[in-house]
Amino acid sequence: MAYHRATRAEIDLRAFRHNLQSLRNYLAPQTQIMAVVKADAYGHGAVPCARIAIDSGADYLGAGVIEEGIELRKSGINTPILILGSIFPNEVEDLVYYDLATILFNLPLAQALSKEGRKQNKIVSVHIKLDTGMNRLGVSPKYLTTLLDQIQNLPNLKIEGISTHFSSADNEDLSITQEQIEKFRITLAKLKNLPIVHCANTSALFRIPESHFNMVRPGLILYGSLPSPSINKVFSQKGNHFQPVMQWKSQIILIKPIFKGQPISYSGSFVTRKNSLVATLPIGYADGLHRSLSNKIDVLIRGKRAPQIGNICMDMTLIDVTKIKGVEEGDEVVLFGEQEGQVIQVEEMATKGETIPYEILCNVGKRVPRIYNN
Ligand SMILES: *Cc1c(COP(=O)(O)O)cnc(C)c1O
Repeated sequence: MAYHRATRAEIDLRAFRHNLQSLRNYLAPQTQIMAVVKADAYGHGAVPCARIAIDSGADYLGAGVIEEGIELRKSGINTPILILGSIFPNEVEDLVYYDLATILFNLPLAQALSKEGRKQNKIVSVHIKLDTGMNRLGVSPKYLTTLLDQIQNLPNLKIEGISTHFSSADNEDLSITQEQIEKFRITLAKLKNLPIVHCANTSALFRIPESHFNMVRPGLILYGSLPSPSINKVFSQKGNHFQPVMQWKSQIILIKPIFKGQPISYSGSFVTRKNSLVATLPIGYADGLHRSLSNKIDVLIRGKRAPQIGNICMDMTLIDVTKIKGVEEGDEVVLFGEQEGQVIQVEEMATKGETIPYEILCNVGKRVPRIYNN
């Protein structure tokens, strides 16, 4: 490539492979892995990540919406794919055509899938979703047997899995999750011929081994990040084998001396307290650098921290580089990642933005090119 934008996300596919293999080693050999690659693999690129996940021992892929499943199929991936967010009736034809599986929690969708399966002469796989306390998607446990009775004999429909999802596996207090597991177990005990059983996300799979059943559904840990600051201690032991996959970088486009007492950027939310050197970066909230981070974050330049100042704009961001010795236009800037042995983690940016790493990673914008190192 002759040219690429100064602002970029570097994706270390070796780290991604390493994370998957570490997880593979951590789990019992018979436990299957559904690698969750929804939201363009949490911003890392669904197709390249999915390929490596499959190579490194993933048995199943998790997509969020049907378009993501179709994208994977069109790239030539034949591994089973589950649509975690379910589908609408107008998506039934594509689901069957592209051999995707969906979660299922009601009769009308089951009937539509069965009918379409007959039409296309295919067996459609579904994973029953139980709502054990998330109070989002899923059938309530007390209606499960009724639903199963209704759908069991529908032609061209295969109940391949049964699952639930945890609401609070990253809470310090695990009692809500334990209750969900208990409900799940009691419900499973009533069923004959258990298919694939799965419920564990990243937090649950490390913190509660009984949540593994015969498949786990990790997302965030594959990208080398940790779900919530409240349990980082829990992870620091088990999680220290996992490496961050994405680094977010930019480059200084201009450096200017600004006198003391000058308002910086829109609305003057920062005023220089002394004569300063201010650098402009070609990255803004249109790239996913949330405006709510204004005046809160640091970046790395020449291996040193420099504070971001003034309101983050749509396409540009300003940095106080007064203390960075030898700073020059064109210098590399790290928003999160490593530089000369110094590290800023995505978790730090998330905490300062009062959010979670998930949101930061999957909001890294479309116009930020992903640069892959194999
Ligand atoms: C996103 C998602 C996961 C993965 O969660 P992580 O916390 O990233 O591991 C698992 N299951 C379902 C249903 C999901 O939507």
